[in-house]
Amino acid sequence: MSIMVPSTTPALITPGRQALDSALHQLDQAAAHLGLDDGLRTMLATPRRSLTVSVPVRREDGRLDVVQGFRVQHNVSRGPAKGGLRFHPTTDLDEVTALAMWMTWKCALVGIPYGGAKGGVAVDPAGLTTRELERLTRRYVSEIMPLIGPEKDIPAPDVGTDEQTMAWIMDTYSVSAGYSVPGVVTGKPTTLGGSLGRTGATSRGVQIAALAALGRSPEGVTVAVQGFGKVGALAAQYLSDAGCKVVAVSDVTGAVHAAGGLDVARLRAYAAETGGVRGFHHADALDRDDLLELDVDVLVPAAMEGAITEANAARVRARLIVEGANGPTTPEADEILAAAGTTVVPDILANAGGVIVSYLEWVQNMQAYSWSSGEVEIKLRDLMLGAFADVRSLAAERGLTLRQAAHVIGVGRVAEAHQMRGLYP
Ligand code: NAD
Repeated sequence: MSIMVPSTTPALITPGRQALDSALHQLDQAAAHLGLDDGLRTMLATPRRSLTVSVPVRREDGRLDVVQGFRVQHNVSRGPAKGGLRFHPTTDLDEVTALAMWMTWKCALVGIPYGGAKGGVAVDPAGLTTRELERLTRRYVSEIMPLIGPEKDIPAPDVGTDEQTMAWIMDTYSVSAGYSVPGVVTGKPTTLGGSLGRTGATSRGVQIAALAALGRSPEGVTVAVQGFGKVGALAAQYLSDAGCKVVAVSDVTGAVHAAGGLDVARLRAYAAETGGVRGFHHADALDRDDLLELDVDVLVPAAMEGAITEANAARVRARLIVEGANGPTTPEADEILAAAGTTVVPDILANAGGVIVSYLEWVQNMQAYSWSSGEVEIKLRDLMLGAFADVRSLAAERGLTLRQAAHVIGVGRVAEAHQMRGLYP
């Protein structure tokens, strides 16, 4: 039996619905492999809590806008819910639900004691002033306040949010509590209890996963990175530092290509100054979507969901795809890639470095103690490589793709937690 969950937008196949369909398909496959009964499968397919809020924002010119916000706690059977907060114009409840579900499997896969959550606000942050963004963030937080807390649900940065957003959330929550509560969010500035190593943690994890999957010297290995934001830019930097040749990157403004390799540090400085990679003098311009089809060794999608679909998967020439983004490859594309012998290191493994160091940040906050960057890096590496080894050996043993194996492990651990806890009442 396949899992049916009603859509919030039944008449439209939105990007969010596509993401949720992908997540449910992956769960379905893992549940069938594990032989889970229908009741438990439905439990795992449905979020424990979903909250939709209307967030009023006072604009600088006095106008009042109202935007939709969401917070979904997909699962809390292994610990508090954990997951990022996204500010993006097309985000909706389906997308946030899919992202929350992937967080559940990711935390279980890397063995950290969290369930999965996600938040979203349907807004384009680039269209708001800093003061408008602050008001929006604080009001959204006050609307979802009953759900969050260091023992309940801990937000972190995702697309369109950053350390500053987390600082405003921590302050709003703390003012309401009457004392400072650093553990309510992760990805904070270090002055407020943020962990050393958190800023680049997702990208460092992508680098660790890519090098482990390559299994050979990275020297001269060619790489293309889609998305040059928090994850993509530092993933490009760390892969370049390791000896790879990053030949192309893209962001919403466009794509740039240099067959001899990009100077990633220079490009990061350029993008920070101009707002994007487009127009970088030391490279050729490239069509944004053509980046995915370049003849490179490694492709790192680090932008949004649904980048590699049945429409372009057959033209992807990279032999190794390392998913910095969540949900960049649809199930149909997965089948095409698997048939072509392309290795895909799946999102719930490849980008888990972010939530691993978020967990380390939260542990430090709960102990009012801080670790050196070296200690954080060692713990991150151990957890990433441990999970990578588990996934690779299960895939080899059972003839599964890395995505299927990762889901079998993640879903299996959450199912086991449900079975051990039993059902109340
Ligand atoms: P971000 O907002 O910092 O960056 C997103 C980047 O993608 C931007 O450079 C944007 O211009 C680019 N982009 C958007 N659409 C594009 C397109 N069609 N083609 C090329 N580039 C495009 O977000 P982020 O935090 O870097 O997140 C990126 C992805 O990584 C998301 O899927 C997110 O869920 C996932 N992720 C993020 C973290 C984290 O710690 N931030 C952790 C795990 C997973």
